[in-house]
Amino acid sequence: MKRYTTVYLALFSSALLITSLLMMSPVKAQDAEPEHPHWTYEGEEGPEHWGELNPDYELCSVGEAQSPIDITEAQALNLTDIAFSYLPSALNIFNNGHTIQVQYDEGSSIVYNEIQYNLVQFHFHTPSEHTVNGESFAMELHFVHQDANGGLAVVGVLLREGAENAEYAALFDNMPATEGEPEPTELTINAASLLPAEATYFTYGGSLTTPPCSQGVRWLVLTTPVEISAAQIEAFQAIFEMNARPVQPLNERDLLQDSSNG
Ligand SMILES: [Zn+2]
Repeated sequence: MKRYTTVYLALFSSALLITSLLMMSPVKAQDAEPEHPHWTYEGEEGPEHWGELNPDYELCSVGEAQSPIDITEAQALNLTDIAFSYLPSALNIFNNGHTIQVQYDEGSSIVYNEIQYNLVQFHFHTPSEHTVNGESFAMELHFVHQDANGGLAVVGVLLREGAENAEYAALFDNMPATEGEPEPTELTINAASLLPAEATYFTYGGSLTTPPCSQGVRWLVLTTPVEISAAQIEAFQAIFEMNARPVQPLNERDLLQDSSNG
């Protein structure tokens, strides 16, 4: 047991060393990728243990403003609109080992509370990470945006089973089953076509829903779900059976609902 601890510490020190080297030479980032602590959605490396896997993941355990949450008893207010300015992008779709992600071309953004956030990528979870009054949805789509100072805003779209959705076909027909790097395809995708017609939303201050669970994320979860077919859901679940973090306590945070008819 002691020997095991020593080996573990040695491994850990080399991981730290590699991390420091990385900071000096970013080109080696890919070589060192396997040194990042592995994490999963169940078992010993599952969400209950994320905070113990690496000191950088501590917020996953001790953070008081974590995501996702159960959206319930939101305070209705006439909030500012989310101004979407999404343009088509090449479909750079890949499997990062935790989800299917699309790296989005530069030039698309939202403006929220007078701050411009550029769309960087979007990805999927199943089932939904946010629940509404305890109700889970088949999937959830996260549009991840970043402002000029590194601040993050994530737009969440709840996806439920219904009619086949042609706007999502290029995505669900081209999901790589195995982990890999983003590779440009001949296809294009328009993020605007993936949104519901109504852009009313719930909002609260939260975190990334994956390690390192960094806080300070502005969450904008759209009120209106989008329908996709059972076959489309199954296509994703054939690759990722379950990749949703359980809901976290709201604690002292404000949870607001936009009550404007926008
Ligand atoms: Zn996500």
